[in-house]
Amino acid sequence: MLRTHTCGELRVSNIGENVTLCGWLQRSRDLGGMTFIDLRDRYGITQLAFNMDTNAELCENARKLGREYVLRVSGTVAERSSKNNKIPTGDIEIIVENIEVLNESKTPPFTIEDKSDGGDELRMKYRYLDLRRTPVRKNIELRHKMGIETRNYLNGLGFIEIETPFLIKSTPEGARDFVVPSRMNEGEFYALPQSPQTFKQLLMVSGYDRYFQIVRCFRDEDLRADRQPEFTQIDCEMSFVTQDDVLNTFEGLAKHLFKHVRNVDISGLPRMTYSDAMKFYGSDKPDTRFEMKFVELNDVAKGKDFKVFDDAKLIVGICANGCSEYTRKQLDELTDFVKRPQIGANGLVYIKFNLDGTVKSSIDKFFNEDALKAIGAKFNAKAGDLILIMAGACEKTQKQLCELRLEMGSRLGLRDPNVFSPLWVVDFPLLEWDEDAQRFFAKHHPFTSPKPEDLDLLESNPGAVRANAYDMVINGVEVGGGSIRIYSRDLQNRMFKALGFSEEEAQKQFGFLLDAFEYGAPPHGGIAFGFDRLCSLFGGSESIRDYIAFPKNNAGRDVMIDAPSTISNAQLDELKLILKK
Ligand code: ASP
Repeated sequence: MLRTHTCGELRVSNIGENVTLCGWLQRSRDLGGMTFIDLRDRYGITQLAFNMDTNAELCENARKLGREYVLRVSGTVAERSSKNNKIPTGDIEIIVENIEVLNESKTPPFTIEDKSDGGDELRMKYRYLDLRRTPVRKNIELRHKMGIETRNYLNGLGFIEIETPFLIKSTPEGARDFVVPSRMNEGEFYALPQSPQTFKQLLMVSGYDRYFQIVRCFRDEDLRADRQPEFTQIDCEMSFVTQDDVLNTFEGLAKHLFKHVRNVDISGLPRMTYSDAMKFYGSDKPDTRFEMKFVELNDVAKGKDFKVFDDAKLIVGICANGCSEYTRKQLDELTDFVKRPQIGANGLVYIKFNLDGTVKSSIDKFFNEDALKAIGAKFNAKAGDLILIMAGACEKTQKQLCELRLEMGSRLGLRDPNVFSPLWVVDFPLLEWDEDAQRFFAKHHPFTSPKPEDLDLLESNPGAVRANAYDMVINGVEVGGGSIRIYSRDLQNRMFKALGFSEEEAQKQFGFLLDAFEYGAPPHGGIAFGFDRLCSLFGGSESIRDYIAFPKNNAGRDVMIDAPSTISNAQLDELKLILKK
C-alpha cells in the first residue's frame, strides 16, 4: 500500500509513530512561521504541519500546493498544541518529513466542504467532486449499509438473490417502458424492466420459494417531484405463504434495518385498511407521526342554510390543538395554501375555540354558538383549539384536507424526520376506474389476487373488490408494496376480462407467464421496496437523489456524462432506424 494509515485513523496513542498518509488537499493555512494542510480521504481529515524554522524548503514547497492536489506524505505523529475536538483526529498532527505530489488538480469549480458554494446543476456536472463531500459520502455509506443489512436479514431467512434480465418485454407496472432496439432482430425492441415482476413469479414456478434481488428498475415517467427514471428496488417473492406471512417477514426486515442502521427499536407495524386510511387521513400513505385525524361532519354541518356545506358530498375537518390564536394573516395563509392550483380547494372554514371560552368562526352567519359547539364536540375540541373544515366531493376533499393536515403537522413541528412511524396499509381496492379511458385498471398490477370473500363482485361490482395487496408506509411515504398473486389460470382470465384485456392481448403480453402457470404454479406473493426512498428516509432527507451516486436531473438527463445523446448515422443504419425529422 502507498499508505500506512488512513486520514481518519490516527489518535494520541499513535504519537511518535512514523506514518505515511495519502489523500487530497482540503485546505492549507499559511501562518508565517508555520504552514498547515488538512489532508482528506474517505475516512477523515488529518492535519499536516510544516515548520519554516526546521525545514524551510519543505515548508515553501507545501505552500505551493493547491486545493484537491493528491498527496503522499510521511512524517511523525505529534500531539497538537491547539486541539480540535470537532474531528476524531483533532488531538494530533503529522510533522511532515517528506511530501510527494501524486497528482495535481485544477481548482475545483465549487468548494469541497460540507456546505458547498456550488449550485445543484454545477455539482451534478461534477458529481465525482460532489461525491468527495462528507455529507454526500455519508449518504452513499448509509446506502451501502442498508444494502448489506438487507442481504444479511434475507439471507438469514433462506432467501436467495437471483438476477433477472434487463433486456425483456413489457412488465405489468403500468408506466411507460424504456425501449432498446435490437440490431439482430430488425424492427424489434426490448423493453427495460419496470420491475422483475414476471420473472420473480416464474422463479416461484421454478421452486425458488424465497427470492430477493436488489435490482434496478426503469420507468419512463414524467419526473415530477422526486423520481428517477432508473431506481432500485429490494424485490422479493415467497411461495406457500399467506398475506400475514409476507407482512410478518417484511415487518422483520423493517425492524432489522431500523435496529442495525439507525439503532431505533420498532415495536411492530400497525395495520390499517385502505378505507380507514382514506377516511381518517385522506391518503393511502398516512403520516402517522401525529394524530390530527379527520372527523366527518355531514350529520352536524348540513341543514344550516350554508350552501357550500349543503351541496357537499363530504364535510370533513381536523382539529389543530393549541392554534386558536392563529391570526387573520395565518388563517389567510392556510386558505391560500389550500387554494393553490396543486391543491385546488375553493376555500377553508375555521372555528376557533378561544382560550377565554368564546367561539369564533368564519361561518358565524350560519352557525350559532350551539351549532359550532356541536361541531367542536365531534373533535373533543378544548379551549385553545382550531378546527379547520373543508367540503366538496368525497375523494377530492379528503385529498385536499390531507395536504392541509400535513401542512399543519409541519407548522406544529410534528413531523420530525428522526421519528419513525411505520405501518401497513392493507385491503387496497383491486381495480381503479379511469375516467379518461373509461375502463378499470389494476390498482397494483393484473396478477394481484382479489380477496376470496369479494370474488363474487368481480363481474357485478368490480370497483368494490378488495385485493390481497399491501403497502408499507413510513412517515407518509410509501416505501414498499406488494400482493398475494393470482396463480390459477381461470381467475387470471376473469381478472383480464375485468381489465378489458382480450384473450389475445393477454396472451401476447403475458403468454409466457400464463403458460408457465399451467405447469404447477405454487401459491405465492411478494413485495418490492423502493430502495432509494428507503435510504433517504433513513437518512432523514426528502430527496432520493442525495442517496444515488450518479442521479439524473428532472429532465431525465445525466448532466455529467451528457446523456441521453444522439447516435451516429452508422449506428442508426445498423439498427435500421430512421429518425423522423
Ligand atoms: N412489482 C411490484 C412493484 O414494483 C411489487 C410487487 O408486487 O412485488 O410495485
